[in-house]
Amino acid sequence: MKVIIAGGGIAGLATAIGLRRAGHQVKVFERSAFLREVGAAIHVCPNASRVLLDWGLKAEEARLVSVRRSVVAAANTLKPIVETDCSSISRRFGAPWYLAHRVDLHSALRCLATTKDGLGLPVEIFLRSEVVQYDADEGSITLADSSVHYADLVIAADGVHTTAVDHVIGHSVPPVSTGSAAFRFLISTKELLKDPETAPMVTDNDGVFKVLVADDSRRLVWYPCANSTLQNFVGIHPDQQVGDYEDWNLSVDVNDVLSQYRDNHPSILAILKKANNVKRWPLLYRDPIPTWHRGRLVLVGDAAHPMLPHQGQGGAQAIEDAGALGVIFSGSLSDPSSLHLTIDDINKRLVLFENVRYNRASAMQIFSNAGQDESWKIRERAQQYMSAGAEVPTSPPEFIEHNFGYDVQEKAREQLREFLETRS
Ligand SMILES: Cc1cc2nc3c(=O)[nH]c(=O)nc-3n(C[C@H](O)[C@H](O)[C@H](O)COP(=O)(O)OP(=O)(O)OC[C@H]3O[C@@H](n4cnc5c(N)ncnc54)[C@H](O)[C@@H]3O)c2cc1C
Repeated sequence: MKVIIAGGGIAGLATAIGLRRAGHQVKVFERSAFLREVGAAIHVCPNASRVLLDWGLKAEEARLVSVRRSVVAAANTLKPIVETDCSSISRRFGAPWYLAHRVDLHSALRCLATTKDGLGLPVEIFLRSEVVQYDADEGSITLADSSVHYADLVIAADGVHTTAVDHVIGHSVPPVSTGSAAFRFLISTKELLKDPETAPMVTDNDGVFKVLVADDSRRLVWYPCANSTLQNFVGIHPDQQVGDYEDWNLSVDVNDVLSQYRDNHPSILAILKKANNVKRWPLLYRDPIPTWHRGRLVLVGDAAHPMLPHQGQGGAQAIEDAGALGVIFSGSLSDPSSLHLTIDDINKRLVLFENVRYNRASAMQIFSNAGQDESWKIRERAQQYMSAGAEVPTSPPEFIEHNFGYDVQEKAREQLREFLETRS
């Protein structure tokens, strides 16, 4: 099967890996030149790392840090509110909870997609190739240079501002501002160790994931990445100025950060003073849409289910999409006829994909509207997406259980097995 993927972010590259391994010919069209260095880190939770490790991800090469403890603490006193020992996460869930520099993760995915050594054919990536039009019936995309490209399956992985939603559900659903934003910045660990005022804060924080809670609306998430050479900060705060376009490169002054977090503990303020190159990320929200596919077109990642950063699951959910598609569209590499799917077969498999993914990702979208210690805010809305008999988690340990314990490839295999059995 010929596959076109619009967008080469985490969702697009991961999906490309899944489908190449399933035996398909994959082309990725990416708007940017991939030259943009983005200073941010991201969680790769066990529900995602189990997929990536299965595909051959090399954790050391990607400079991933394993989480060993998670702490929710009061920002002014640093007194822990909830503390969770994560040293057994890997054993409990069968895969580690990693913290990654976004550029490292992206490079590792790109390598897995394009390497000549992996399963299937290397993915072709076309840079500076902006998709300006989709055709769900024909299975085509039009690029900004007016060229039209056809495939059996077109995958929109072009992020929260995708126009593919219009072609799937018949109208656009633009994401809206939540009135909140997140500061994002990295500080070198070496620099913090050099200063006697900040050194004690980083001497024992390898693998420690912290959420410092100031009040209902201001939180500082702090964790190491890139072999702990960098400390990553995400400062969620109210901001009525933010618009409804996600611009990752909006820079702000460090004094804006200090002013938002002025009531934090003095040692935290000493750390924040060292921040430079601070970016502000507007927090946008879009409700779950009724379906993710029509004809030959399917949405994945933020295009399908954008979410706020409170659960740290945006990237992981994109990787789950990719893991599910890789299984559901798998054929036998030794039997080329199994890889030629009719439009009817493609549609049936896209239904399977949604069976595996829709409720799980929609619940995660709703969960992500609040911190893991504030589940009362989302309980009622999220319940409709929980499977029969399952309850919405109520505390950080329960969220960890729900989010991390899921094996998307196993669920997809079950769906595919049932589908193939009823067909034969
Ligand atoms: C810079 C950045 C930092 C982030 N940090 C975090 C984090 O710390 N924690 C977290 O949970 N989530 C974070 N996220 C969100 C998280 O990464 C996403 O939920 C997840 O990566 C899924 O992304 P995606 O590939 O669906 O979308 P995106 O990451 O937005 O990628 C979309 C890709 O499509 C390309 N594209 C867009 N339009 C077109 C077009 N018309 N034609 C061709 N290509 C197009 C873009 O250039 C981009 O490469 C971040 C996202 C970004 C962009």
